[in-house]
Amino acid sequence: MNFHVLTLFPEMVSQGLNTSIIGRAIDKGLITLNTVNIREFSKDKHKRVDDYPYGGGAGMVIQAEPVYDSYSYVIDQINGKNAGKDCKKPRVIYVTPQGPIFNQGMAKELSQEEDLIFLCGHYEGIDERVLEMIVTDYISIGDYILTGGELPAMVMIDAIARLIPGVLNNEVSSEFESLHDNLLEYPQYTRPEVFHGRRVPDILLSGHHAKIEEWRREQAILRTFERRPDLLPNANLSKKEQEYLQRLQQ
Ligand code: SAM
Repeated sequence: MNFHVLTLFPEMVSQGLNTSIIGRAIDKGLITLNTVNIREFSKDKHKRVDDYPYGGGAGMVIQAEPVYDSYSYVIDQINGKNAGKDCKKPRVIYVTPQGPIFNQGMAKELSQEEDLIFLCGHYEGIDERVLEMIVTDYISIGDYILTGGELPAMVMIDAIARLIPGVLNNEVSSEFESLHDNLLEYPQYTRPEVFHGRRVPDILLSGHHAKIEEWRREQAILRTFERRPDLLPNANLSKKEQEYLQRLQQ
């Protein structure tokens, strides 16, 4: 999968994503990260890309033209010689507080795409006209305002990239973690067996795999009930697990 990021701060995105698991996935060629500096498409002699908002008000707005030109540059890069009327136009995600909030389901859906373009705003945002022309998805990472779209784009790219086959060493691990089945993950333990007087639950040392699985499912239900009860109506529970949940609710 190829991630393209239109940003005023390309080094922030490339440095932030070039480490650990995502960095290794880039090195292995499982994903590519193409950061494009919107400022390079400014026609202003001082490379300015922002201007005052029409109608007045605080702050500055990123102009439509450099954003549109940086987008066209990426479309040409993706299509190479085939650039033209029938060329591929990947989804363009404008990261913005004015969109539905990103979640694991969206990450899964987006991980099926071959190319994704992320558009990062700054200042008061971007001229609406270019957004109307190029954006296919408006997505927020939460109900708070950040100074720029780079961190949201990095959050989304990290969450999407780790769902791509081969990116995690153990593919099973993304299947059984929090939110996969609308349940939070069960508690995890590693050595030593006793830490500051706290023992690892005996069941995990029993070697009885079926019982361990059952215990983990119950712990996942209990944890979700305590911390994220809003997820439970969409959780996929067996009859026995539903009875366990009913007992918790009583
Ligand atoms: N004036 C804009 C508004 O009220 O919607 C907010 C602009 S914000 C200061 C600058 C940029 O940061 C936005 O254009 C967007 O790209 C990014 N941003 C800020 N908060 C975000 C969030 N919660 N989720 C995604 N992107 C966000």
